[in-house]
Amino acid sequence: MSELVKQIKERYESTLEKIAISAKKAGRNPESVKLVVVTKSQPVEVVQAAIEAGAKILGENYAEEGVTKIQSLSSFSAVEWHMIGHVQSRKAQLVAEHFNFLHSLDSIKLAKRLDRFCGEAKRKLPVLLEFNVGGEESKGGWDAFDETRWNELIVELNEILTLPNLQVRGLMAMPPLGDDAEFSRPFFVKMKRLQEFLMKQFPQVDFSELSMGTSLDYEVAVEEGATFVRVGTAIVGERK
Ligand SMILES: *Cc1c(COP(=O)(O)O)cnc(C)c1O
Repeated sequence: MSELVKQIKERYESTLEKIAISAKKAGRNPESVKLVVVTKSQPVEVVQAAIEAGAKILGENYAEEGVTKIQSLSSFSAVEWHMIGHVQSRKAQLVAEHFNFLHSLDSIKLAKRLDRFCGEAKRKLPVLLEFNVGGEESKGGWDAFDETRWNELIVELNEILTLPNLQVRGLMAMPPLGDDAEFSRPFFVKMKRLQEFLMKQFPQVDFSELSMGTSLDYEVAVEEGATFVRVGTAIVGERK
């Protein structure tokens, strides 16, 4: 095993252990949390090392970069490739054809394009709806800052739920960046409440997945109900 694989393996396993500790602390089954290893801006050698170190799910932010890696690492057929970054309209086809899962569905327009390309490729794409719970103008996702206005989300979400080639599986958030993990907790709590709201509004839809938490705050995210955490630098090191 190369030094790089050894190093990543150590960090990957220690991340899994911390996830398990946080899950147990919250009375949750550690197996209900899936670890997405975020490899955006990392060269393909690092991604391969992450796979050899045990990573099962890889997270990429840029469609073209992700597709290049998916194609060069196609011999590792057991890994899943998740798109976690904003998808521009003109990249919808790449995502529809190559990725296994999309965390960052953030508009009705993108949803319709993805649905069309998935139909043409005869694929179904599991998706999470991205919400902006921090009220930041720069962030994507449906505005869910003001809890008293969550009802206004229902019409658009209903439209997405009718698209035959997208399978809604839950929700995702990238809250404002703070100095420490505790800063994120109220946003994670809000996402959990939003999940419960959506489950109540759409009892026929699967909203069971909750994607939140990065290197900085994944333990808090697990305590508050995350089923996917997206961890990059803490496992594969700083991005170039
Ligand atoms: C980069 C990124 C992450 C991982 O961030 P780290 O700080 O490297 O753990 C998670 N989610 C999204 C959407 C990202 O863009």
